[in-house]
Amino acid sequence: MTTSSPLQTAADPTTGNQEEGSIELRRVRRTYGDVTAVDDIDLTVHPGEFVTLLGPSGSGKTTTMMMVAGFEELTSGMVLINGRPVDKLPPKDRNLGVVFQSYALFPHLSARENVEFALRMRRVRPAERRQRAEEALERVGLAKLGDRRPRELSGGQQQRVALARALVFNPSALLLDEPMAALDKRLREQMQEEIKTIQRSLGISVLFVTHDQDEAMSMSDRIVVMRDGRIVQQGAPDDVYAHPVNDWVANFLGDANLLPCTVLERSGETAVVDLGELGVGRVRDRGASGDRYAVSIRPEHLAFIPADRTENSASGRVVTSTNLGATIRHRLRVGGQDLLLRELSAGRRTARELDGEVFVGWEQDEAQLLVLES
Ligand code: ADP
Ligand code: MG
Repeated sequence: MTTSSPLQTAADPTTGNQEEGSIELRRVRRTYGDVTAVDDIDLTVHPGEFVTLLGPSGSGKTTTMMMVAGFEELTSGMVLINGRPVDKLPPKDRNLGVVFQSYALFPHLSARENVEFALRMRRVRPAERRQRAEEALERVGLAKLGDRRPRELSGGQQQRVALARALVFNPSALLLDEPMAALDKRLREQMQEEIKTIQRSLGISVLFVTHDQDEAMSMSDRIVVMRDGRIVQQGAPDDVYAHPVNDWVANFLGDANLLPCTVLERSGETAVVDLGELGVGRVRDRGASGDRYAVSIRPEHLAFIPADRTENSASGRVVTSTNLGATIRHRLRVGGQDLLLRELSAGRRTARELDGEVFVGWEQDEAQLLVLES
Protein backbone atom coordinates (compact mmCIF):
# COMPACT_ATOMS: atom_id res chain seq x y z
CA MET A 1 0.00 0.00 0.00
CA THR A 2 1.15 3.52 -0.73
CA THR A 3 0.72 6.31 1.77
CA SER A 4 -1.54 8.22 -0.64
CA SER A 5 -4.24 5.57 -0.63
CA PRO A 6 -7.54 6.84 0.75
CA LEU A 7 -7.80 3.64 2.74
CA GLN A 8 -4.63 4.35 4.65
CA THR A 9 -5.54 4.41 8.29
CA ALA A 10 -4.69 5.25 11.73
CA ALA A 11 -1.42 3.73 12.87
CA ASP A 12 0.44 6.09 10.61
CA PRO A 13 3.68 7.48 11.98
CA THR A 14 3.27 10.64 9.87
CA THR A 15 0.29 11.75 11.97
CA GLY A 16 2.54 11.90 15.01
CA ASN A 17 -0.21 10.72 17.35
CA GLN A 18 1.02 7.65 19.23
CA GLU A 19 -2.52 6.92 20.38
CA GLU A 20 -4.11 7.13 16.92
CA GLY A 21 -6.40 4.12 16.70
CA SER A 22 -6.67 3.50 20.44
CA ILE A 23 -9.94 3.03 22.31
CA GLU A 24 -10.06 3.29 26.07
CA LEU A 25 -12.92 2.66 28.49
CA ARG A 26 -12.54 3.87 32.05
CA ARG A 27 -14.96 2.51 34.64
CA VAL A 28 -17.75 2.50 32.08
CA ARG A 29 -21.18 1.70 33.44
CA ARG A 30 -24.64 1.47 31.93
CA THR A 31 -27.83 0.66 33.78
CA TYR A 32 -31.38 0.28 32.52
CA GLY A 33 -33.64 0.63 35.56
CA ASP A 34 -32.64 -2.26 37.82
CA VAL A 35 -30.53 -3.97 35.16
CA THR A 36 -26.80 -3.29 35.14
CA ALA A 37 -25.91 -4.03 31.53
CA VAL A 38 -22.27 -2.93 31.85
CA ASP A 39 -20.72 -2.90 35.29
CA ASP A 40 -17.72 -0.54 35.60
CA ILE A 41 -15.46 -1.98 32.95
CA ASP A 42 -11.93 -0.85 32.17
CA LEU A 43 -10.63 -1.79 28.75
CA THR A 44 -8.00 -0.55 26.31
CA VAL A 45 -7.65 -1.40 22.63
CA HIS A 46 -4.15 -0.46 21.53
CA PRO A 47 -3.41 0.92 18.04
CA GLY A 48 -3.54 -1.90 15.49
CA GLU A 49 -4.83 -4.45 18.00
CA PHE A 50 -7.71 -6.89 17.36
CA VAL A 51 -9.66 -7.19 20.61
CA THR A 52 -12.74 -9.39 20.98
CA LEU A 53 -15.49 -9.13 23.57
CA LEU A 54 -16.57 -12.74 24.08
CA GLY A 55 -19.50 -13.67 26.27
CA PRO A 56 -22.93 -15.30 26.29
CA SER A 57 -26.07 -13.47 25.23
CA GLY A 58 -26.94 -10.69 27.67
CA SER A 59 -23.40 -10.25 29.03
CA GLY A 60 -23.23 -6.58 27.94
CA LYS A 61 -21.20 -6.80 24.72
CA THR A 62 -23.53 -4.82 22.47
CA THR A 63 -24.19 -2.18 25.11
CA THR A 64 -20.42 -1.70 25.44
CA MET A 65 -20.03 -1.29 21.67
CA MET A 66 -22.96 1.13 21.44
CA MET A 67 -21.39 3.34 24.11
CA VAL A 68 -18.06 3.38 22.27
CA ALA A 69 -19.84 4.15 18.97
CA GLY A 70 -21.87 6.91 20.62
CA PHE A 71 -25.33 5.39 20.14
CA GLU A 72 -25.84 4.84 23.88
CA GLU A 73 -25.15 7.19 26.77
CA LEU A 74 -22.89 6.16 29.62
CA THR A 75 -24.45 6.03 33.07
CA SER A 76 -20.98 6.79 34.39
CA GLY A 77 -17.36 6.49 33.31
CA MET A 78 -15.51 7.71 30.28
CA VAL A 79 -14.63 6.64 26.71
CA LEU A 80 -11.50 7.94 24.99
CA ILE A 81 -10.70 7.51 21.31
CA ASN A 82 -7.20 8.35 20.07
CA GLY A 83 -6.49 9.42 23.64
CA ARG A 84 -9.26 12.05 23.72
CA PRO A 85 -12.58 11.93 25.61
CA VAL A 86 -15.52 11.61 23.20
CA ASP A 87 -18.52 12.14 25.47
CA LYS A 88 -19.53 15.30 23.57
CA LEU A 89 -19.08 13.79 20.10
CA PRO A 90 -21.99 12.37 18.07
CA PRO A 91 -21.35 8.98 16.40
CA LYS A 92 -20.39 10.36 12.99
CA ASP A 93 -17.66 12.54 14.50
CA ARG A 94 -15.97 9.67 16.37
CA ASN A 95 -14.32 8.40 13.17
CA LEU A 96 -15.19 4.78 13.88
CA GLY A 97 -16.21 2.28 11.21
CA VAL A 98 -19.18 0.32 12.49
CA VAL A 99 -20.71 -2.96 11.32
CA PHE A 100 -23.53 -4.30 13.42
CA GLN A 101 -25.53 -7.40 12.63
CA SER A 102 -28.66 -5.28 12.46
CA TYR A 103 -27.02 -2.35 10.68
CA ALA A 104 -28.96 -2.71 7.46
CA LEU A 105 -27.97 -1.30 4.08
CA PHE A 106 -30.31 1.14 2.35
CA PRO A 107 -32.40 -1.12 0.07
CA HIS A 108 -33.04 1.54 -2.57
CA LEU A 109 -29.36 2.40 -3.03
CA SER A 110 -26.79 0.39 -4.99
CA ALA A 111 -23.83 -1.15 -3.19
CA ARG A 112 -21.63 1.72 -4.35
CA GLU A 113 -24.17 4.35 -3.25
CA ASN A 114 -24.43 2.68 0.14
CA VAL A 115 -20.66 2.96 0.53
CA GLU A 116 -20.64 6.53 -0.80
CA PHE A 117 -23.27 7.47 1.75
CA ALA A 118 -20.65 7.26 4.51
CA LEU A 119 -18.58 9.84 2.59
CA ARG A 120 -21.55 12.04 1.77
CA MET A 121 -22.26 12.33 5.50
CA ARG A 122 -18.70 13.53 5.89
CA ARG A 123 -19.07 16.06 3.08
CA VAL A 124 -16.58 14.50 0.68
CA ARG A 125 -16.92 15.86 -2.88
CA PRO A 126 -18.83 13.66 -5.40
CA ALA A 127 -15.90 12.89 -7.72
CA GLU A 128 -13.71 11.75 -4.86
CA ARG A 129 -16.61 9.84 -3.28
CA ARG A 130 -17.01 7.62 -6.28
CA GLN A 131 -13.34 6.75 -6.53
CA ARG A 132 -13.01 5.97 -2.85
CA ALA A 133 -16.17 3.85 -2.86
CA GLU A 134 -14.80 1.83 -5.79
CA GLU A 135 -11.55 1.24 -3.93
CA ALA A 136 -13.35 0.16 -0.76
CA LEU A 137 -15.55 -2.26 -2.73
CA GLU A 138 -12.47 -3.67 -4.41
CA ARG A 139 -10.84 -4.24 -1.05
CA VAL A 140 -13.75 -6.40 0.08
CA GLY A 141 -13.85 -8.31 -3.22
CA LEU A 142 -16.93 -6.64 -4.71
CA ALA A 143 -15.33 -4.55 -7.46
CA LYS A 144 -17.75 -5.80 -10.12
CA LEU A 145 -20.94 -5.65 -8.08
CA GLY A 146 -21.14 -1.95 -7.22
CA ASP A 147 -24.29 -1.38 -9.26
CA ARG A 148 -26.35 -4.05 -7.53
CA ARG A 149 -28.99 -3.31 -4.92
CA PRO A 150 -28.73 -5.14 -1.59
CA ARG A 151 -31.52 -7.59 -2.50
CA GLU A 152 -29.48 -8.64 -5.55
CA LEU A 153 -26.59 -9.65 -3.27
CA SER A 154 -26.12 -12.68 -1.02
CA GLY A 155 -25.98 -12.30 2.76
CA GLY A 156 -22.20 -12.53 2.70
CA GLN A 157 -21.94 -9.93 -0.06
CA GLN A 158 -24.22 -7.57 1.84
CA GLN A 159 -21.95 -7.85 4.87
CA ARG A 160 -19.01 -7.01 2.61
CA VAL A 161 -20.80 -3.87 1.47
CA ALA A 162 -21.37 -2.96 5.13
CA LEU A 163 -17.66 -3.55 5.75
CA ALA A 164 -16.68 -1.38 2.76
CA ARG A 165 -18.98 1.35 4.06
CA ALA A 166 -17.29 1.11 7.46
CA LEU A 167 -13.79 1.34 5.96
CA VAL A 168 -14.26 3.94 3.23
CA PHE A 169 -13.75 7.06 5.35
CA ASN A 170 -10.42 5.89 6.88
CA PRO A 171 -11.77 5.31 10.38
CA SER A 172 -9.28 5.20 13.22
CA ALA A 173 -10.82 1.91 14.39
CA LEU A 174 -13.49 -0.64 13.44
CA LEU A 175 -16.34 -1.82 15.68
CA LEU A 176 -17.83 -5.13 14.55
CA ASP A 177 -20.76 -6.57 16.51
CA GLU A 178 -21.47 -10.20 15.52
CA PRO A 179 -21.09 -9.26 11.84
CA MET A 180 -21.17 -12.88 10.66
CA ALA A 181 -23.97 -14.15 12.90
CA ALA A 182 -26.40 -14.55 9.99
CA LEU A 183 -24.00 -16.44 7.73
CA ASP A 184 -23.54 -20.20 7.47
CA LYS A 185 -20.44 -21.85 8.87
CA ARG A 186 -18.33 -22.03 5.75
CA LEU A 187 -19.03 -18.44 4.73
CA ARG A 188 -18.36 -17.31 8.29
CA GLU A 189 -14.93 -18.89 8.25
CA GLN A 190 -14.14 -17.30 4.90
CA MET A 191 -15.26 -13.87 6.13
CA GLN A 192 -13.25 -14.31 9.33
CA GLU A 193 -10.10 -14.83 7.31
CA GLU A 194 -10.88 -11.91 5.01
CA ILE A 195 -11.55 -9.53 7.87
CA LYS A 196 -8.24 -10.57 9.44
CA THR A 197 -6.43 -10.00 6.14
CA ILE A 198 -7.97 -6.55 5.70
CA GLN A 199 -7.24 -5.65 9.32
CA ARG A 200 -3.59 -6.67 9.00
CA SER A 201 -3.03 -4.89 5.70
CA LEU A 202 -4.54 -1.65 7.03
CA GLY A 203 -3.02 -2.01 10.50
CA ILE A 204 -6.36 -0.84 11.89
CA SER A 205 -7.59 -1.43 15.46
CA VAL A 206 -10.67 -3.61 15.79
CA LEU A 207 -13.10 -4.05 18.64
CA PHE A 208 -15.04 -7.19 17.75
CA VAL A 209 -18.02 -8.84 19.45
CA THR A 210 -19.01 -12.48 19.34
CA HIS A 211 -20.54 -15.20 21.49
CA ASP A 212 -18.69 -17.83 19.44
CA GLN A 213 -15.50 -19.01 21.12
CA ASP A 214 -14.00 -20.48 17.92
CA GLU A 215 -14.47 -17.16 16.15
CA ALA A 216 -12.87 -15.31 19.06
CA MET A 217 -9.98 -17.80 19.21
CA SER A 218 -9.22 -17.61 15.51
CA MET A 219 -9.39 -13.84 15.00
CA SER A 220 -8.22 -12.06 18.13
CA ASP A 221 -4.94 -10.70 19.44
CA ARG A 222 -6.71 -10.47 22.78
CA ILE A 223 -9.94 -11.96 24.10
CA VAL A 224 -11.94 -10.17 26.78
CA VAL A 225 -14.35 -12.62 28.41
CA MET A 226 -17.54 -10.95 29.63
CA ARG A 227 -20.19 -12.23 31.99
CA ASP A 228 -23.06 -10.26 33.59
CA GLY A 229 -21.65 -6.92 32.45
CA ARG A 230 -18.19 -7.58 33.87
CA ILE A 231 -14.84 -8.60 32.47
CA VAL A 232 -14.00 -11.99 33.95
CA GLN A 233 -10.68 -12.53 32.22
CA GLN A 234 -8.62 -11.20 29.34
CA GLY A 235 -5.53 -12.30 27.49
CA ALA A 236 -4.17 -13.82 24.29
CA PRO A 237 -6.53 -16.53 22.96
CA ASP A 238 -4.25 -19.49 23.69
CA ASP A 239 -3.49 -18.11 27.12
CA VAL A 240 -7.13 -17.65 28.15
CA TYR A 241 -7.93 -21.06 26.70
CA ALA A 242 -5.13 -22.89 28.49
CA HIS A 243 -5.29 -20.88 31.72
CA PRO A 244 -8.88 -20.00 32.64
CA VAL A 245 -9.31 -18.23 36.00
CA ASN A 246 -12.42 -20.14 37.05
CA ASP A 247 -14.58 -23.08 36.07
CA TRP A 248 -17.11 -20.85 34.28
CA VAL A 249 -14.47 -19.54 31.86
CA ALA A 250 -13.00 -23.04 31.47
CA ASN A 251 -16.38 -24.44 30.43
CA PHE A 252 -17.39 -21.45 28.28
CA LEU A 253 -14.22 -21.79 26.21
CA GLY A 254 -14.48 -25.49 25.45
CA ASP A 255 -14.21 -28.87 27.14
CA ALA A 256 -12.24 -28.98 30.37
CA ASN A 257 -11.24 -31.64 32.86
CA LEU A 258 -11.77 -30.09 36.28
CA LEU A 259 -10.04 -31.96 39.07
CA PRO A 260 -10.99 -30.80 42.58
CA CYS A 261 -7.85 -30.26 44.65
CA THR A 262 -6.41 -28.98 47.89
CA VAL A 263 -3.76 -26.29 47.60
CA LEU A 264 -0.64 -27.24 49.58
CA GLU A 265 1.68 -24.44 48.58
CA ARG A 266 1.66 -21.36 46.34
CA SER A 267 4.71 -19.50 45.20
CA GLY A 268 4.96 -17.21 42.19
CA GLU A 269 3.30 -18.80 39.18
CA THR A 270 3.35 -22.34 40.55
CA ALA A 271 1.13 -24.13 43.03
CA VAL A 272 1.58 -27.55 44.59
CA VAL A 273 -1.77 -29.29 44.86
CA ASP A 274 -3.12 -32.51 46.30
CA LEU A 275 -5.37 -34.19 43.74
CA GLY A 276 -6.46 -37.02 46.03
CA GLU A 277 -6.17 -40.35 44.23
CA LEU A 278 -4.34 -38.61 41.39
CA GLY A 279 -1.51 -37.72 43.72
CA VAL A 280 0.36 -34.49 44.32
CA GLY A 281 1.22 -32.29 41.37
CA ARG A 282 2.64 -28.97 40.34
CA VAL A 283 0.42 -26.63 38.27
CA ARG A 284 0.26 -23.10 36.89
CA ASP A 285 -1.11 -20.50 39.28
CA ARG A 286 -2.63 -17.14 38.37
CA GLY A 287 -3.17 -16.18 41.99
CA ALA A 288 -6.98 -16.22 41.84
CA SER A 289 -8.45 -16.84 45.27
CA GLY A 290 -11.70 -18.43 46.39
CA ASP A 291 -13.15 -21.03 48.73
CA ARG A 292 -12.74 -24.08 46.53
CA TYR A 293 -10.14 -24.96 43.93
CA ALA A 294 -9.68 -27.31 41.00
CA VAL A 295 -7.06 -27.99 38.39
CA SER A 296 -8.17 -27.53 34.79
CA ILE A 297 -6.60 -29.58 32.01
CA ARG A 298 -7.88 -29.43 28.43
CA PRO A 299 -8.62 -32.84 26.86
CA GLU A 300 -5.91 -32.32 24.22
CA HIS A 301 -3.38 -31.53 26.95
CA LEU A 302 -3.79 -34.98 28.45
CA ALA A 303 -1.69 -37.63 26.73
CA PHE A 304 -1.20 -41.36 26.95
CA ILE A 305 2.26 -42.06 28.33
CA PRO A 306 4.18 -45.36 28.38
CA ALA A 307 4.30 -45.82 32.16
CA ASP A 308 3.35 -44.01 35.31
CA ARG A 309 5.61 -41.14 36.34
CA THR A 310 5.91 -39.76 39.81
CA GLU A 311 4.44 -36.33 39.00
CA ASN A 312 1.60 -35.10 36.78
CA SER A 313 0.42 -38.51 35.77
CA ALA A 314 -2.09 -41.17 36.76
CA SER A 315 -3.27 -44.60 35.80
CA GLY A 316 -6.80 -45.49 34.79
CA ARG A 317 -8.83 -47.24 32.16
CA VAL A 318 -10.57 -46.32 28.92
CA VAL A 319 -14.38 -46.28 29.13
CA THR A 320 -15.20 -45.23 25.54
CA SER A 321 -13.28 -44.14 22.47
CA THR A 322 -15.03 -42.14 19.77
CA ASN A 323 -13.48 -41.34 16.42
CA LEU A 324 -14.55 -37.82 15.45
CA GLY A 325 -12.66 -37.73 12.17
CA ALA A 326 -9.69 -35.49 12.80
CA THR A 327 -9.49 -36.44 16.47
CA ILE A 328 -10.34 -39.32 18.77
CA ARG A 329 -12.08 -38.60 22.04
CA HIS A 330 -11.43 -41.00 24.89
CA ARG A 331 -13.47 -41.13 28.09
CA LEU A 332 -11.31 -42.37 30.92
CA ARG A 333 -11.93 -43.44 34.47
CA VAL A 334 -8.99 -42.21 36.52
CA GLY A 335 -8.82 -42.25 40.29
CA GLY A 336 -12.59 -42.24 40.68
CA GLN A 337 -13.07 -39.43 38.16
CA ASP A 338 -14.17 -39.23 34.54
CA LEU A 339 -11.64 -37.51 32.30
CA LEU A 340 -11.66 -36.61 28.62
CA LEU A 341 -8.55 -37.11 26.52
CA ARG A 342 -8.42 -35.96 22.90
CA GLU A 343 -5.72 -37.00 20.48
CA LEU A 344 -5.17 -36.57 16.77
CA SER A 345 -6.47 -39.55 14.82
CA ALA A 346 -3.86 -39.21 12.07
CA GLY A 347 -1.87 -42.44 11.75
CA ARG A 348 -3.92 -44.25 14.39
CA ARG A 349 -5.85 -47.16 12.92
CA THR A 350 -7.96 -48.29 15.82
CA ALA A 351 -9.41 -46.87 18.95
CA ARG A 352 -7.83 -47.79 22.30
CA GLU A 353 -8.62 -51.12 23.79
CA LEU A 354 -11.41 -50.65 26.28
CA ASP A 355 -10.92 -51.45 29.95
CA GLY A 356 -7.17 -52.01 29.66
CA GLU A 357 -4.96 -50.11 32.07
CA VAL A 358 -3.52 -46.90 30.64
CA PHE A 359 -1.27 -44.17 31.94
CA VAL A 360 -1.99 -40.54 31.26
CA GLY A 361 0.19 -37.52 31.89
CA TRP A 362 0.16 -33.78 31.45
CA GLU A 363 2.64 -30.93 31.31
CA GLN A 364 2.85 -28.74 34.38
CA ASP A 365 2.43 -25.60 32.23
CA GLU A 366 -0.84 -26.87 30.80
CA ALA A 367 -2.51 -27.60 34.10
CA GLN A 368 -4.09 -24.50 35.62
CA LEU A 369 -5.14 -23.92 39.20
CA LEU A 370 -8.54 -22.22 39.13
CA VAL A 371 -11.35 -21.20 41.43
CA LEU A 372 -14.48 -23.35 41.53
CA GLU A 373 -17.48 -21.03 41.45
CA SER A 374 -20.26 -23.51 40.80
P1 ADP B 1 -25.08 -8.92 24.66
O1 ADP B 1 -24.79 -8.05 23.48
O2 ADP B 1 -23.86 -9.43 25.34
O3 ADP B 1 -26.02 -10.02 24.31
P2 ADP B 1 -26.50 -6.61 25.68
O4 ADP B 1 -25.50 -5.55 25.82
O5 ADP B 1 -27.38 -6.55 24.49
O6 ADP B 1 -25.80 -8.03 25.78
O7 ADP B 1 -27.44 -6.61 26.96
C1 ADP B 1 -26.92 -6.63 28.28
C2 ADP B 1 -28.07 -6.56 29.28
O8 ADP B 1 -28.70 -5.28 29.21
C3 ADP B 1 -29.15 -7.57 29.06
O9 ADP B 1 -29.62 -8.00 30.30
C4 ADP B 1 -30.21 -6.80 28.30
O10 ADP B 1 -31.47 -7.34 28.52
C5 ADP B 1 -30.07 -5.42 28.91
N1 ADP B 1 -30.44 -4.36 27.96
C6 ADP B 1 -29.79 -4.04 26.83
N2 ADP B 1 -30.39 -3.01 26.21
C7 ADP B 1 -31.44 -2.67 26.96
C8 ADP B 1 -32.47 -1.66 26.86
N3 ADP B 1 -32.51 -0.78 25.85
N4 ADP B 1 -33.39 -1.60 27.85
C9 ADP B 1 -33.35 -2.47 28.89
N5 ADP B 1 -32.43 -3.42 29.05
C10 ADP B 1 -31.49 -3.53 28.10
MG1 MG C 1 -25.31 -8.35 21.42
